[in-house]
Amino acid sequence: MAKQRVGVYPGTFDPITNGHMDIIKRSLGLVDQLVIGVATNPSKNPLFTLEERVNIVTRETAPLVENSGTAIEVVPFDELLMKFAERVGADFIIRGLRAVADFEYEFQMTGMNYQINPDIETVFLMADPKYQTIASRLVKEVAMYGGNIAPFVPQQVGLEVVAKVDGMAK
Ligand code: ADP
Repeated sequence: MAKQRVGVYPGTFDPITNGHMDIIKRSLGLVDQLVIGVATNPSKNPLFTLEERVNIVTRETAPLVENSGTAIEVVPFDELLMKFAERVGADFIIRGLRAVADFEYEFQMTGMNYQINPDIETVFLMADPKYQTIASRLVKEVAMYGGNIAPFVPQQVGLEVVAKVDGMAK
């Protein structure tokens, strides 16, 4: 039997957006198993707890498994990305690349990761142009000012972001 290709898609997913969803859908065609790594990332001061983010990503990606047949596992992590990737037996790290904004950071991170473990390849995918400008940070900002975030996130996630932001304002 051919070797199973395992990809890791790491992120903070605070919250998961239509941009993330598009990258996940594209990844499913490339790997046999996709591990979505949800980073604790306390330095980013997340709106949602780690447990909430894991639960939301799990719920939103569940229908994709049925459609693609590719296994998806959603796993929290709080360690060096390369250590996490090695631990789950990943062959690839998958990252989404948006216009110029992501390039510098991704370029540096990939360069350093190749020195840590040259056997794990980083693969960059571009989202559909209509999702390229979506960023979790901006979704939260729009919601805090009462703007409509429906075009940017899955429906249920939109309701959860608004509820969270409203709860904080009280
Ligand atoms: P991180 O804290 O690792 O940047 P994010 O949740 O912000 O976590 O993003 C995870 C990955 O998804 C990153 O590779 C990021 O570039 C990518 N990504 C986020 N939003 C989009 C988008 N709208 N289109 C394409 N890629 C995206």
